[in-house]
Amino acid sequence: TTYVYSFGNGAADGDATQAELLGGKGANLAEMAQLGLPVPAGFTLSTDCCNDFLSSGGNYPGKLREQVQAALATVEGIMGMKFGDTENPLLVSCRSGARQSMPGMMETVLNVGLCPATIPGLIKKTGNERFVYDAYRRLIMMYADVVMEKAEGVEPIDDMGIRSQLDRIMEDLKEEKNYINDTDIPAEDLKNLCDTFKKTVREVLGVDFPDKPEDQLWGAIGAVFKSWNGRRAISYRRIEGIPDQWGTACTVQSMVFGNMGATSATGVAFTRNPANGENRFYGEWLPDAQGEDVVAGTRTPNPLNKDTKNDQNEHLPSLEEEMPEVYAQLYEIRNNLEKHYRDMLDIEFTIQEKRLYMLQCRVGKRTGPAALNMAMDMLEEKMITEKECVMRVKPSQLDELLHPIVDPAHEKTSTVIAKGLPAGPGGAFGQIVFTAKDAVEWHKSGKQVILVREETNPEDVEGMRAAEGILTARGGMTSHAALVARGWGKCCIVGAAMIKLDFKAKEMRIGGKVYKEGDVVTLNGSKGLVYEGALKMVDATENPRFKAFMTIVDKYRTMGVRTNADSPQDTLVSLEYGAEGIGLFRTEHMFYGGDSEEPLFLLRKMILSDTEDERRQALEELFPFMKRDIQATLETMDGMPVTIRLLDPPLHEFVPHGRIHQEELAKALDIEVDDVVRRGEELQESNPMMGHRGVRLGITYPEITEMQVRAILEAAAELIRQGKNPLPEIMVPVTCDVKELIFAKAITDRVYADILKTFSLDSIDYKYGTMIEIPRAALMADKMAECADFFSFGTNDLTQMTFGFSRDDTGGFMADYLDKGIIDADPFQTIDQDGVGQLIQYSVERGRKTRPDLKIGICGEQGGDPASVAFCYANNLTYVSCSPFRLPIARLSAAQAAL
Ligand code: PEP
Ligand code: MG
Repeated sequence: TTYVYSFGNGAADGDATQAELLGGKGANLAEMAQLGLPVPAGFTLSTDCCNDFLSSGGNYPGKLREQVQAALATVEGIMGMKFGDTENPLLVSCRSGARQSMPGMMETVLNVGLCPATIPGLIKKTGNERFVYDAYRRLIMMYADVVMEKAEGVEPIDDMGIRSQLDRIMEDLKEEKNYINDTDIPAEDLKNLCDTFKKTVREVLGVDFPDKPEDQLWGAIGAVFKSWNGRRAISYRRIEGIPDQWGTACTVQSMVFGNMGATSATGVAFTRNPANGENRFYGEWLPDAQGEDVVAGTRTPNPLNKDTKNDQNEHLPSLEEEMPEVYAQLYEIRNNLEKHYRDMLDIEFTIQEKRLYMLQCRVGKRTGPAALNMAMDMLEEKMITEKECVMRVKPSQLDELLHPIVDPAHEKTSTVIAKGLPAGPGGAFGQIVFTAKDAVEWHKSGKQVILVREETNPEDVEGMRAAEGILTARGGMTSHAALVARGWGKCCIVGAAMIKLDFKAKEMRIGGKVYKEGDVVTLNGSKGLVYEGALKMVDATENPRFKAFMTIVDKYRTMGVRTNADSPQDTLVSLEYGAEGIGLFRTEHMFYGGDSEEPLFLLRKMILSDTEDERRQALEELFPFMKRDIQATLETMDGMPVTIRLLDPPLHEFVPHGRIHQEELAKALDIEVDDVVRRGEELQESNPMMGHRGVRLGITYPEITEMQVRAILEAAAELIRQGKNPLPEIMVPVTCDVKELIFAKAITDRVYADILKTFSLDSIDYKYGTMIEIPRAALMADKMAECADFFSFGTNDLTQMTFGFSRDDTGGFMADYLDKGIIDADPFQTIDQDGVGQLIQYSVERGRKTRPDLKIGICGEQGGDPASVAFCYANNLTYVSCSPFRLPIARLSAAQAAL
């Protein structure tokens, strides 16, 4: 087996496509060497080698020593130096690098090969004693920490790590001698410092610092491999979902020195600005330093050029000014690398006595706005194709473009006081209030408020509208607060269980601390984090290129994209964001606020009716409101399908609680208040989510279905008369058997015939279909399709019923399920492809067997989640439907799935 891959002198055994084997760093060094860039020669031990090493309990595979010896000899040949030589010693670095970058999570050792035997030769050769001892003290500090302290059998005598002890010794020296910077310590002191360091290592770790270059090398390689299983690396892998089996590569590379005095330097740069995407070379550098000094943040780095100057560094000289020739060479490399990789890169370089060396390059991380700008710029520069342009922006990055967000820099320095579910994206801050009424009043008086509630119900809707953000102690991702907030693109966090509310006192308690009405908090709705005080917001400026980008995206998208919208207002927004129809119009949402309370009142009247007469009268009164809303939406969406769902009100949410509401109703129904209360109590169910809801309501009270179908078809008929082209789709919710569909279809047919006659029409172009949101309906899909033109997966309920997880009560356990790895992701946010996904796949197949042209969509909240959209595409769904503000994300995800 080949474990070792060499690079240098314009040639390499590998290239950039081999990140799996060589790690990102090794692969890109090989690529840069092949491009003829000034890369110090070296070789990479493969990830296979790491895996063999780790699985054998820390033994190097046979033949590895021979391979390393041969590769080292090649490097020595190229560099004209010899590892361990007393006259002309070569030093190397041992650097970790996994397939995907894991910044700072694994170990690196520099200056390997420096020891009493090689020090005099290096001093003679460089004529720079100070530099040599500076390199040596760095080696001792790193090696003792990374290799020796973690080695088996080493028992440190105290808890304070060796690194901090050595750091302290150096700080004490600086203080004693009045040296401000590390670079002020002269050669003589550094030399003594190295002696003290070695003595300390012996005392603390009980072993001698290795004086043989060979031993240092193998110790460092082993430490790099073992750092794959270090605590930091493991946690990072869990967060990023990186598999344990990947392993890390180890690159052994000739050292070049940025710490050889004023004409040496080290730096990090991005080929374009990673924050905003501007096509300007952007970076930082430090004279007389090694790489760790730049990343560690101990010194304020200098700007690379005039484009990189800011308030903090503008007084410092740029590389462009200090070393114009080197800068010009670096600039040319920047251009060549971008042309070659056709992407923005982040690069690391070192300058040794005015000679430039490239130490690393990789595709750089970037913000959402930067990703968009770069993709569009590179397309215009003809650097990338349209398809590549579409692939360059992650769907989640679009989110950043559409909502104001909390300034990430400010978040880093602030403490999180509570965590909940990230229900509505973006950021918001404001004064906390505890009732919807206060939210409205404070808002009217010009204040910015955050509405804090135990959970929300329809009576809160105005307060939710008025608030900058919403925070609830209970509820899940699909709770109403979340649905409504996302629909409005409003920042919202739900299920923050650590918040204890006291409404009487108008305060909330988090841990030991009390927050009173009027106190200011900030919400990061994209992450579900709550902060004390007002954090800075970054404006999601409407990028003029966003629309142009989305036009390209739509060229490559094949699956339809619709929206979940319940009001003409949402519908207008959704058109702007590219909706091709409405996939879910929840009729009951018209009762949450709007311009009058009348519909909600009438709905309650209907719900509390005791007799069919009472109910019919209430329905009669409700009809005009229903028809008006549906008609307005059909009109706005003229020529596009609008899926109108028959009433699916969770009854418990609509039963009136307040005394005023109860009195009003008593008057209207001409009964006693006590009767209203009693009727309300009778409607209480122990499990309302599985209670008298959806189609069941229409089975018990067919007059409700009849009123609704009439409202839909009459609205359409009137529009047709006006020369419009309404395309209503009637959708029956919460079904589990085709007979339910047949029952409601009979009513629909009757009303349809009636309306054709009244309006003297030949036909109305409408469809009749069902939601698939109960596992039984999914299993009976072939039968269901006999009476349905279309299916729409209601994955909120389908997930609830498949897992048996109440969708409004996941707050108590979901975090534990995720933390303990019981499930990989919240199935209410992203479709559970293993379980729920099987039901979807099965119903698509069965449904289309019965009816090959069956239209199939999804309208659960997962419809706006990138992985779920890709899953829907793979399963041949006709369209996905999501809230208006998530449409761009769904469009991009669908296009990427098709490419
Ligand atoms: C669903 O269950 O996925 C759905 C869209 O319906 P609702 O959320 O209104 O129950
Ligand atoms: Mg549902």
